[in-house]
Parts: sequence; C-alpha cells; structure tokens
Amino acid sequence: MASSVENIVIIGTGCAGLTAAVYTARANLAPLVLEGAMPGGQLTTTSEVENFPGFPEGVDGFQLMDNLRKQAAKFGTRFEQARVESVDFSARPFKLRTGERELLAKTVIIATGASPRLTGVPGEKELYGGKGVTTCATCDGAFYRNMDVAVIGGGDSACEEALFLTRFARRIYLVHRRDSLRASKIMAGRTTTHPKIQMVWDSVPVEVQGVAAGAVSGLKVRNVKTGVEQVLPVKGVFMAIGHVPNTQPFAQALDVDENGYFRPAAGSQVKTKVPGVYVAGDCADHVYRQAVTAAGMGCQAAIEAERWLAGHGG
Ligand code: NAP
Repeated sequence: MASSVENIVIIGTGCAGLTAAVYTARANLAPLVLEGAMPGGQLTTTSEVENFPGFPEGVDGFQLMDNLRKQAAKFGTRFEQARVESVDFSARPFKLRTGERELLAKTVIIATGASPRLTGVPGEKELYGGKGVTTCATCDGAFYRNMDVAVIGGGDSACEEALFLTRFARRIYLVHRRDSLRASKIMAGRTTTHPKIQMVWDSVPVEVQGVAAGAVSGLKVRNVKTGVEQVLPVKGVFMAIGHVPNTQPFAQALDVDENGYFRPAAGSQVKTKVPGVYVAGDCADHVYRQAVTAAGMGCQAAIEAERWLAGHGG
C-alpha cells in the first residue's frame, strides 16, 4: 500500500543517517528514518571512541549513538524498522519498497554504511555467530575469558579488536598477510608491544577448524612467503579485514564504483546523479571512514536536501 509523500526519508541509523536526521528535524522537515538490521551502525560495536571531537576522555560507541538517536528524536524524527529492498528514482516522488510497504519521498538520504568483510575460508561461515567466528570483539570478547583467540587483519580495526581482547583472552594471535601493519602508528605500536598479543606475520587463514563439533577448535594459517602451515590452538576467531558497502538495493539506480561504493556526482561528496537523492557516510566513502567524517557527510546531505526542498516547493 502506498503512503503519503514524505519530505525526506533517511535510510540508516549510523553517524551519517542520524546526523542528517538531527539537521532535517531541526529544519522542521519531520524526517522518517528507516532503521535496518544494525541500529546505530558500526560504532555500536566499538568500545571506546577516542577521536570523536569534544570528548577528551573518550566516549563509549554505543552511548554516542544512543545520544545521537535521542537528539534526532527530540526534534521530531520518526523511526521505522524497515529494510529497503528496491527503489525507483526514475520519477518523483521517489519510490522505496520495503518488505512491508511502498514509501513515497520527495528527497532521500542513503546512509546505509558498510558491513564487515569475511575471508571465505572453509569453516568460517559454518562457525559464524555464536560458534566462535565473529566480527565484533566488543560484542563477543567476554566469552573468551582466559582462552586463546586469533584476530585476522592488519588495519586499525584488527588492532582495536586485539587490544580490546587483551581484557579477557589469555593470548591473542594477530594474523596479518604482510609484515607490517596498515594501522595508524599509535595503534600499531600499542598492539605489537602488548605482552598478550603475538604477531603472526605474512600469514593468511586457510581453515577454521571445529565444524563437526559446532565450535571453533583451531585456526589453520599459511605463511605466504614459506608456504608453511600451522594450526593456532584458538577457541575464537575475530575477522577484521575491512568492509563491504551496503549499496546493493540502489546500485542500479545510482552510480557505484568497482568495489560497490557510491560514486557521488562531480564536485560534491553527497549529491548523486539524481537530484533530490543524496548519499552519506561509509557507503559513499572508502577513504576516510571515520565517525566524524560520516557525521559531516550526513550534515552536508541534510543541508542539500533542505535546499532542494526549498527550491521545489517542499
Ligand atoms: P582496513 O584499513 O581496510 O584494513 C583491512 C586489513 O585487512 C588490512 O590490513 C588488509 O591487509 C587486511 N585484509 C583485507 N582483506 C583480507 C583478506 N582477504 N585476507 C586477509 N587479510 C585481509 O580496514 P579497517 O581496519 O576496518 O579500517 C577501516 C577504516 O576505519 C580505516 O580508515 C581505519 O583507520 C578506520 N578505523 C579507525 C579506528 C580508530 O581510529 N580507532 C578504528 C577502526 C577503524 P593489507 O594491509 O595487506 O591490505
């Protein structure tokens, strides 16, 4: 059933989506925010955020997103749990199809973020979620008290996961496919010098073991330089090898790059080839990918949407 026409529909409740909601709600546009499978986005899986401006002592990621949601609600944002399955941006009002209904919107801000990437090795899928393979140390770390675990990856996320796990685990193997970390110097330094973290350089996962028993019993890794394989005796495997942008339902209607990230229109970070449709946050940014840059893009998209509505009788 089609609904009345919304001024603005914002898809996503991470830093980008909720910042866009604060701005458009304060502009009296009564935004409707569609909340997907992961309310609050990736920051809700982070422990301490130390680099968001204005928090000299750091701020808990979940708390930050909860505050932002309350701030958006305070000015009149409406929230609806819905997953957009397809869109029609070929005519106005724009059409958004969810599992439940068809929404009509004068403007749309897509802030759907990115999801953790998996390696695809045998055993990973079978043991994912509650059986020992996970992408979130903050969520699952406490289950591995006094156990040995492995983290895969060499970026800031992998270091952050490994450092967080030092609170619980006995030993953390950090498995990285090269011999130097991609992570920032400060995170790399903290990680490589931590007594509980053992670096496994030049190595890639080959198999997560334990499928028959339904629980991780080890991780087989291969040294890419020597070809030598070894089994790390771990009970948990934390994947931290980057993200895949959540752009699939929109990929036909808008431009995306070879990795699936939205490609904004020339001269803008947030405009798309369809006037009135904007993108913000990690779904459109594979370079900076920070909470504060996502919030900044949400703000830009909100201001663009406001201006577009003002110019088109919104
Ligand atoms: P990332 O920087 O893209 O790092 C991904 C890591 O996974 C890289 O080390 C990469 O290896 C490795 N990798 C990728 N595919 C792999 C595969 N198939 N098998 C094995 N290893 C694989 O991703 P991220 O760490 O999630 O960080 C994303 C962004 O968020 C970055 O800009 C980062 O600075 C930021 N971030 C910041 C913080 C913080 O400041 N506290 C925390 C988390 C994230 P290579 O190095 O060889 O490419």
